[in-house]
Amino acid sequence: MPFPIKVCVICSEEFELRPGKPGFANRCPACSEPEANEEAKRQADADILKTNAEANAARRQAIRDLLYSKDS
Ligand SMILES: [Zn+2]
Repeated sequence: MPFPIKVCVICSEEFELRPGKPGFANRCPACSEPEANEEAKRQADADILKTNAEANAARRQAIRDLLYSKDS
């Protein structure tokens, strides 16, 4: 049984709407992917920023500890 043919709202290409296709039902696989990747990238960037902030805080704390331990 063939899959229903849809027209992508982004690029106007016809595509088969397969069960379990990721992304929007009115977008072809090619136009669904970039947005999914973009979302994953944003999440990864946020994780990296968070990790960097934590690393910087830890580094500052370590330097502070070092300075104080020298003084005492
Ligand atoms: Zn498309």
